[in-house]
Amino acid sequence: MPRRNHTPDLMESQPGSPAPSPTARRVRVMLPLPFAGALDYRAPAGLDLQPGDIVSVPLGRRTETGVVWDMELRLPPEFMPPPMPPVAAGRLRAVGGRLDLPPMPAPLRRFIDWVAAYTLSPPGMVLAMALRTSTTAAAPRPAAGWKVAGEIPPGLRLTPARQKVLDIARAGTPMSTTDLATRAGVGASVVRGLAQAGCLHEVVLPAPWAFATPDPAHAPPVLEGEQADVARALRDTVAEDRFSITLLEGVTGSGKTEIYMEAIAACLEKGLQVLVLLPEIALSSQWTERFERRFGTAPALWHSDLGPRLRRVTWRAVADGEAHVVVGARSALFLPFVRLGLIIVDEEHETSFKQEEGVTYNARDMAVVRARMDNAPIMLVSATPSLETLANVGAGRYRHLRLGARHGNASMPQVRTLDMRASPPERGLFLSPVLTDAIARTIGRQEQAMLFLNRRGYAPLTLCRTCGHRMQCPNCTAWLVEHRARRILTCHHCGHHEAMPPACPSCNAEDSLTPIGPGVERITEEARATFPDARILVMASDTLHGPAATAEAVDRISRREVDLVIGTQIVAKGWHFPHLTLVGIVDADLGLGGGDLRAAERTVQLLHQVAGRAGRAEAQGHVLLQSYVPDHPVMEALVSGDFASFMEQEAEQRRPGFWPPFGRLVALIVSADTPEAADMTARALGHEAPRLDGVQVLGPAPAPLAILRGRHRQRLLLRARRNIPVQPIMREWLSRVKPERGARVDVDIDPISFL
Ligand code: ADP
Ligand code: ZN
Repeated sequence: MPRRNHTPDLMESQPGSPAPSPTARRVRVMLPLPFAGALDYRAPAGLDLQPGDIVSVPLGRRTETGVVWDMELRLPPEFMPPPMPPVAAGRLRAVGGRLDLPPMPAPLRRFIDWVAAYTLSPPGMVLAMALRTSTTAAAPRPAAGWKVAGEIPPGLRLTPARQKVLDIARAGTPMSTTDLATRAGVGASVVRGLAQAGCLHEVVLPAPWAFATPDPAHAPPVLEGEQADVARALRDTVAEDRFSITLLEGVTGSGKTEIYMEAIAACLEKGLQVLVLLPEIALSSQWTERFERRFGTAPALWHSDLGPRLRRVTWRAVADGEAHVVVGARSALFLPFVRLGLIIVDEEHETSFKQEEGVTYNARDMAVVRARMDNAPIMLVSATPSLETLANVGAGRYRHLRLGARHGNASMPQVRTLDMRASPPERGLFLSPVLTDAIARTIGRQEQAMLFLNRRGYAPLTLCRTCGHRMQCPNCTAWLVEHRARRILTCHHCGHHEAMPPACPSCNAEDSLTPIGPGVERITEEARATFPDARILVMASDTLHGPAATAEAVDRISRREVDLVIGTQIVAKGWHFPHLTLVGIVDADLGLGGGDLRAAERTVQLLHQVAGRAGRAEAQGHVLLQSYVPDHPVMEALVSGDFASFMEQEAEQRRPGFWPPFGRLVALIVSADTPEAADMTARALGHEAPRLDGVQVLGPAPAPLAILRGRHRQRLLLRARRNIPVQPIMREWLSRVKPERGARVDVDIDPISFL
């Protein structure tokens, strides 16, 4: 919830506005708060308010910022929330005033209503994602900086501190007071003193937020064959200027990014805005550079690491239409585009598009809705499309464009499974001699190798050899993960951490705690011992802090300052490493356990993506999968590269039981302070479960994460045929159950996580 401590600029009354009308006009105002809908207010005399206007209103004793909402909701009937009771006209409070901000466009308002209704969230909480941090800011003021004035006035005492400031100011471009003082290592008063003495004079700094217009003709690629055909089809789609959905499928390295840049170019030629969603903003450095090479200027970025100022400026530039291309994480979906002409969702199969906290929504699916609201085409891009998307292609709802081969002389990497039963690692180690030999040969040829293990830390489990005690999180049903470099045990679910105890906390045996299984830290230790001369770089989300560090690591790999990369999921992203020719998957079976509906599909997608880092230039790439189940369909699909057949098998397994995408799922997660409250609430839900044709309720049952952050959890799962809208069923069901004290029910439509 936005918190504000100053009153924003108001336009209390406008000059030349019509005379106050005797009958007060009722307006509906949506506030970024968890109410069931918009609240009724009175438009003060002389203030002509239109839907979309951003206003300040009184709420209790506070002043809140909200948006004038439409009088009528435009939603499919099954999505309609129950009406809110009207407030008597006489009791309406007056809107305080309109803020000096561009109004929120109608398609975004309708999108917010839709997302709220679909996810069963209070619309105000969805609005909060669109309004966050941006509204209180007036238009950004240009920043001021200092330049050295010509002559030093005679009689000025030049202290060493002052001298330092002058030296720095003379050498570089104009800088703000803070920057100048920080660089010189002096207090801000030194800078101000020099300014007063007339040694520095003020200049307006070039705006760091100036969003230059990307030039679609800057550096177009040379396209031939299927690339040219697909690019033409995408351009034609943009030219249609209306809502449509296209899947762009192509193996890693086939030029998908290159090609969809042409769709962006087509959209820019029409003067329309483009939104590109990437699953992980860590990827943005390479992506941004590429964009810059193609269009001559950088795109606007939108992600959680943006500072508050840049965030406001970007929001404003999108609303004013000055930001032409925005590349961002899922929250960019809620930006106030004024003329959105195209949405691209890259790596559409990625489950990280699902937001699991607060309003739970899948940004890929909601992007399709946003495109429909703005009547714009959307393109979903992937080497391994999700079964959901493939089903939509099969049903004729999505268009399908394909790139069959890698670009240029690069060929697909050769994938082999390495049967760990036949060539096991030495005792206490995790890399098979077959894999270490391959790494040694690769490094010997001056090429680069990569080891992938999707697990942070040193070991996922710490066990007492004497009594069998397992080190567990006090707040969660989860083992503590050892992070040896930091000498701690930590919980990957709640963040709890503690020092590694010298003795077993259960039996007091000393030196008895033993790490079980590997994380990347442990693999790194093994690799350092096996390849003492190799230059090793570890890439994991807890060792690389932020996009800058990631970009630096990527640059080092590109500059060939690294022989062996060891990483978690972060290395799976769409990086282009031309000298990397060998990828070793330390544990290809890792994602297969756990009984998750999409476990096999996700493993194929992830491992194919990692494998795709190998052999992206001339030299042939090789991939070795360490597995104890080399005959598993997942391994066979990775080896053959025949994902279409694999996905057909997946579909055949899900179809009979109406599992997604052939049916709909809704998860209910009951959490409570006590096991009793969780249990009673869950049982009440089970008791009141809907009994309808084509609808089935599974559970309640304790969640796999039975305790999370100290809260006790139970789960229920509703499964319905695809043609049955689940929202009214859920609404009705939830209205009949009152959670116990201290208990809460969270609803997750189209769940991805089953923990
Ligand atoms: P994908 O997104 O399918 O993995 P990319 O678009 O990243 O593929 O292309 C792989 C590599 O080939 C990149 O380095 C890209 O710049 C290059 N490439 C692809 N198509 C072309 C082209 N038509 N001209 C020049 N380079 C290309
Ligand atoms: Zn925990």
